Amino acid sequence: MSTTDEGRPAASPTDKERIRKRSFLIHGRQHTRQWDYEHHVVPPLSSSVTYRLESAERGAMGFQEFAREDLRTPGHAPVYIYDRLDEPTRAMLEDHLAVAESGEMAICFSTGMAAISAALGTLCRAGDHFVAHRVLYGCTYSFMTSWLPRFNVTGTYVDMTRLEQLDAAIKPETRAVYFETPTNPTLEIIDIRAVVALVARHNEGRAPEQRIHVVVDNTFATPAGQRPLELGADLVAASLTKGIGGFGTDMGGVVIGARHHEPDLLLFRKDFGGALSPKSAWPILVYGLPSLELRLRRQQEIAAIVADYLASHPRIERVHYPGRADFPWADLAKTQMLDFDGKFAPGFMIYFELKGGPEERFKDARRLVDDIAENGYTLTLAVSLGQLRSLIEMPAAMTHAVVPDEVKRGGGIDPGGIRLSIGVEDPADIIRDLDEALARL
Ligand code: PLP
Repeated sequence: MSTTDEGRPAASPTDKERIRKRSFLIHGRQHTRQWDYEHHVVPPLSSSVTYRLESAERGAMGFQEFAREDLRTPGHAPVYIYDRLDEPTRAMLEDHLAVAESGEMAICFSTGMAAISAALGTLCRAGDHFVAHRVLYGCTYSFMTSWLPRFNVTGTYVDMTRLEQLDAAIKPETRAVYFETPTNPTLEIIDIRAVVALVARHNEGRAPEQRIHVVVDNTFATPAGQRPLELGADLVAASLTKGIGGFGTDMGGVVIGARHHEPDLLLFRKDFGGALSPKSAWPILVYGLPSLELRLRRQQEIAAIVADYLASHPRIERVHYPGRADFPWADLAKTQMLDFDGKFAPGFMIYFELKGGPEERFKDARRLVDDIAENGYTLTLAVSLGQLRSLIEMPAAMTHAVVPDEVKRGGGIDPGGIRLSIGVEDPADIIRDLDEALARL
């Protein structure tokens, strides 16, 4: 191969004479040593929608091998064809996420909702049924109740903190059991091991295609604070937009589990189209995931201080924080919310309610949150969670607005409930913002 004056490879020996600048600026050199994963310290950010195929045979091979691990040559990179199918930067993130969650594979999607719809979309067919916990993130609830029934996939919603309700809801056509733990927004804890054991009993004697799969949304805890696959869950679905992304710059989602789920998830992503952009995968791979453990550790130290402050305030009736001794599921949380060293990881989310009758606490909560929006420095009134900045919101009217009032009531989502996602500011400043707003109530 010839080289240019700078010592870089040229496209071909005759390029200089034959190819006009105009064309060169589009095609550049066809071979370059500049794209080299082995020697990058920071992984490269790729941004190529389509991939050059040296021959029609290679193109055919790429399509044949896609979603078919058994046809791939071991040790060789897949034949990349088109971003929506597979792509190297996103693939590197997938490898790292699989390791973080103790799974065999991870498939990334454009958002957490795209990941959740893929998890249920690959497990359930028309006529199938799933059981879900009655408290869910608003869009998950809306996806399950507004969209899945259109495909004749129906759900039963139970209180999974009471296993007898789950037991009674499982039918021959049940294919998935779905829950968040801690739940959004009330931070209820569901016993992952106990659900897995109960589902295993129902799976006894079932044909493989009739098995029930346990799917856990691990968005709140993150893999640095809980790994449901280690406790027997089949799939983890999570938003990468939150704690894993960590900086509030990019959206993403992931489904993680055993290798045999990979083909369906890849094919679902290819055909429904919710692939994570490599431009979003890159900051999550380079900044978010590597700093997750560090951020979580600091965030939960601060969350514990803020939760104790809130619990001691005379205007506050109830504080849910898994690290407090008065948390209703404190013992259970200690057995499953564990960091990479096996130490208790109570997380960065807090849910609390003010004192007073329903009407009064709703009005006060609104005044409090509006006051913080206007005067707070460290607390931002905004949905989302898991960022460096602390965020405050009222779930009943915001993130869970779509959930019908009677379902919210049944699940304990109070109209005046307040959700806090604790960042990494100085806890004294967070407390001052809360204290001053509470004093003005
Ligand atoms: N799961 C939980 C628990 C969430 O809180 C959210 C979003 O807030 C999602 C899933 C959806 O994630 P995304 O916004 O990335 O689609």
